[in-house]
Amino acid sequence: MKFSEYFLPTLKETPSDAKLASHKLMLQAGMIRKVTAGVYDYLPMGFKVLKKVEEVVREEMNRAGCQEVKLPIIQPADLWRESRRWDDYGDEMFKLSDRKDQEFALGPTHEEIITDMVRNELSSYKDLPLTLYQINDKYRDEIRPRHGVMRSREFLMKDAYSFHGSQESLEETYRDLYDAYARVFDRLGLDWYAVDAPSGLMGGSYSQEFIAVADEGGEEIAVCDECGYAANVDIAAYKPSEDEAQVELKELEEVETPGKETVAAVADYLDVPGQKIVKTFIYSTDDGYLAALVGGNDELEETKLSSHLGRSDLEMVSTESEIEQVTGANFGSIGPIGLDIPIYADADIKAMKNFIVGANRNGYHLKNVNWERDLEDAKFTDLRRVQEGDRCPRCGDELDFYRGIEVGQIFQLGEKYSRALDAHYQDEDGQLKPYLMGCYGIGISRVIPAIIQQNYDEDGVKWTEAVQPFDVGIIVLDDEGSDVFEYGSYLYDELSDRGYDPLFDDRDESPGVKFNDADLIGLPVMIIIGPRGMKNGELEVEFRAGGKETVKIDGVPRGEVADRIGDLLNR
Ligand SMILES: [Zn+2]
Repeated sequence: MKFSEYFLPTLKETPSDAKLASHKLMLQAGMIRKVTAGVYDYLPMGFKVLKKVEEVVREEMNRAGCQEVKLPIIQPADLWRESRRWDDYGDEMFKLSDRKDQEFALGPTHEEIITDMVRNELSSYKDLPLTLYQINDKYRDEIRPRHGVMRSREFLMKDAYSFHGSQESLEETYRDLYDAYARVFDRLGLDWYAVDAPSGLMGGSYSQEFIAVADEGGEEIAVCDECGYAANVDIAAYKPSEDEAQVELKELEEVETPGKETVAAVADYLDVPGQKIVKTFIYSTDDGYLAALVGGNDELEETKLSSHLGRSDLEMVSTESEIEQVTGANFGSIGPIGLDIPIYADADIKAMKNFIVGANRNGYHLKNVNWERDLEDAKFTDLRRVQEGDRCPRCGDELDFYRGIEVGQIFQLGEKYSRALDAHYQDEDGQLKPYLMGCYGIGISRVIPAIIQQNYDEDGVKWTEAVQPFDVGIIVLDDEGSDVFEYGSYLYDELSDRGYDPLFDDRDESPGVKFNDADLIGLPVMIIIGPRGMKNGELEVEFRAGGKETVKIDGVPRGEVADRIGDLLNR
C-alpha cells in the first residue's frame, strides 16, 4: 500500500476525550472514528486489523471442528418470550417494531435463534454432537459505553453453540473449545488467564472467562501461581482462617454505643479491631427475610450469596422503615441475635470468638458474642469478597490479584434453553430429551484494544505479529523523481512480490512526520532511505521493538538487497 493513496487520517494531537491508551491510539492512528456514543466506524487500517483477529479465530474454530453459519441480527420478540428473556434482558436490549407493530430485538446474543434453527433438524441422538459458530455484530444498549470499541453498543463477536446428548459429550466439547481459545489468544500474542466466572444472564452451571491482563481493565481476578487456581473476584474463594483455639468465652454483654453507626465508629468507641464488629445485612426474598453476616472489614459478595442459595430474587433491605420492621432498630444497630430468620455467615468469621454485633436496639451493641452459644443456627459459607492477603482455597498459597479485559467466555449451559424452547432429540431408546448445550464467545472487536493495552509506548502502538497491519514500512526522505524515491519504489515492488505487505510512505511530508506516523501506527520494521545514506551506499533498517541494522547497497545488486531485507523481516 502506498501511504499517499491510503485512507489513514492520523492525528497529530492526542484526542482529549479518550482515557485509555488503546482508545486514544486507535483514534490517533486513524483506525476508528466515533459515529455516536458506543458506535464506531472502522477505517481501512482498523478494519484490516479486525479482519486479522477474525481470521485467527476462524482458523482455530474450524480446526476444533466447528461449522460456520450466519444468523440474523433482527430477532423476533416471540422467540425471546419463549425463553422468558424478553423481560429479563431489560434495557440492555435494543427493541424495535416493524410496520405491522410486530416486535423485534437487535440480537444481543443468539441462543434463541440458533436453538430455534436446530430444534427441528437435530431430531436423533445420531445427529449429536454439533457445534456451530458465527462471526457477527451484536447490539447491547450499554448504560455507559466507554473506552471506544472496548465497551461499545455495536460490536463484533464470535459466538459458538454446541448441542449434545450427554454431559460427557458437552464436557468434551467444552474442553476442546477451551484448548481452541488458548491457541487463539496465544497466537494473538496476548498475556491471558482463564478464570472461573459467574454465568450471569446466560445461566447454566459452569463458566470460565478469558482475561487479558491489563492494569486498566474492567475485570479483577485472583490467581494462584502455585496450583493454577484462577477466578473472577466476584466468585473467587479463599481459605478460611483457622480456629482461634484456647480463647475463653466471655459473657454476653449489651453495651451502649450512642450515635456510633459505622464499623469504624463502633470499633473506635469500644477500642477493638474493626474486623471484630460483625456486620449484618438483611435481604428480602419471595419466601421472607434472611440475614447475611461478614467481618467488619470484609465486603459481602452478593453473587456468592445468591449462588449459594440458588436464588435470583435477593434484594437487600435498604429503607429505614423496612429495616426497623424486621429488626426493631435502625441500620447502625442491627444484628443477628433474636431475629427469627435464617442466618448465613461467612466461613472466615466462623473461627471468631467474643465478637460484637448490633443489639437490635438503637444505640446499643452486644459484646462477647459466640456462635455455638448465641447463634447456634447460623450456617457458614463463603460470602465475602476475596482480598489482598487471602490464601488459595485449594493449596493455601497466597493469591495474586490482577486487573484485566474480558476477551472471551465459555459456558456449559445445560438444558436451560433447550427446555425453554422445547428443543428435543430422540435418544437410543426412543425417548424425547432436551439437548445439553454449551456456548462460547470471543469479543473480536475487544481483542484489538486488549492487544494495544499490553503493547504500546509513548510513541504509539507496538503490534503483535499476528495482527500487525503491515509487515514493514518503507520511508523515503526525498521527493518523487529522486534516486532515493526510485530506490524505495523498487524495494516496495520487490517486497510485495516476495509476499510481504509493505507500506510505502511516498507522501510529500517531512521526515519527522513520517517517523512519527510509522511509530504511531506501529510499523514493526522501518526501511529508511535518505540522500545521505544513498551517498554512503547504505540504507537503515529500524525495528519498532528496538535495534537497528545497516544494509549495504553500494555495489550490491538490488535483488540481493531485497533478499537481505527479507531475511531481516523473517528473523
Ligand atoms: Zn493454589
